[in-house]
Amino acid sequence: MLNIIIFGPPGSGKGTQSARIVEKYDLIHLSTGDLFREEMEKNTPLGQEARKYIDKGLLVPDDIVLRELYSRASAHMDSPGFIFDGFPRTIVQAEALDQMLDKNGIPICLVIAVEVERNELFKRILGRGEDSGRSDDSEKIVHRRLQVYEDQTMPLISYYREQGKFVSINGMAHVDEVFNKICLAIDTYLESEKVIHQID
Ligand code: ADP
Repeated sequence: MLNIIIFGPPGSGKGTQSARIVEKYDLIHLSTGDLFREEMEKNTPLGQEARKYIDKGLLVPDDIVLRELYSRASAHMDSPGFIFDGFPRTIVQAEALDQMLDKNGIPICLVIAVEVERNELFKRILGRGEDSGRSDDSEKIVHRRLQVYEDQTMPLISYYREQGKFVSINGMAHVDEVFNKICLAIDTYLESEKVIHQID
């Protein structure tokens, strides 16, 4: 199984890149942000609960995120792999994901970080705010989301670096160029796996 985490701050283009990766490598796309937005649109109890946090730019509590993630992932354990987009976002989530995947013998292969400078992130999100229709794309909330990213999500960089899975890609380029670099990282991983299996 090819399990990838696409990692990066709000506005880095994770969603756009995930859609392309999914198509090329035939993976299941699990985006916790999309999941919560769908529930908010349908105004389900889960959507109402998530909205309390999302509209403030805060993270949805780990227990809710994990419960939803597990239930969606477990329906696809026989797929060629997953791309996790917007998840994990805390160390607690990362440890829980490792445990879940280890139990099934399908660990994370790569964590691909899309790096974009802070000023550019603001420009992109506030620019799209007008037509994204997202209630969390206002200036004050974007500030909070970036702060939450730095405080709660950035510690994951060393978590995955220590596991030797972290690859950093420059996201300050055209979407096609960023996508090509991501594919190069994935293909390099797949090639190295092939070599290891040949040696085995
Ligand atoms: P972005 O990367 O632009 O912030 P997302 O769609 O990934 O967009 O997330 C939107 C919001 O949904 C987050 O600000 C957070 O409130 C909530 N959310 C999404 N994924 C998670 C997660 N793994 N843990 C906690 N909250 C999450």
